[in-house]
Amino acid sequence: KESRDEKFQRQHMDPNTSTVTSGYCNQMMKRRNMTVGRCKPVNTFIHEPLPDVQAVCFQGNVPCKNGQPNCYQSSSKMRITDCRLKNGSKYPKCDYQTQQLQKSIIVACEGNPYVPVHFDGSM
Ligand code: 5GP
Repeated sequence: KESRDEKFQRQHMDPNTSTVTSGYCNQMMKRRNMTVGRCKPVNTFIHEPLPDVQAVCFQGNVPCKNGQPNCYQSSSKMRITDCRLKNGSKYPKCDYQTQQLQKSIIVACEGNPYVPVHFDGSM
């Protein structure tokens, strides 16, 4: 079974892409199995090395959106791509807007080793 940190990597890690094209989110949301059963409405991919993203668990502690205390904000901006379902897109035709951004990310961390298991947002 997929662990929570494996799921985080499937849904959010794409270190080896630096420049994205307009079709990036349509391809990647499908390839990473986020269009099975429904179209996941919003998802962020991170284009930085895995160790740099794992290190965020030891950076600035901030409250998570759901009120839990285990979220962390990256001290540096990271290259990310925001994928957002377009208005009017209907399953199974999941049609996404692709937006490349450089922002500080916020992740939730759990376990031993203490690693990212949820993407909470960016700012
Ligand atoms: P909206 O911008 O539509 O009001 O809300 C989208 C929210 O989803 C934002 O607060 C954004 O930070 C958050 N978000 C962005 N990417 C992801 C993701 O991959 N997973 C989750 N759970 N939330 C995300």
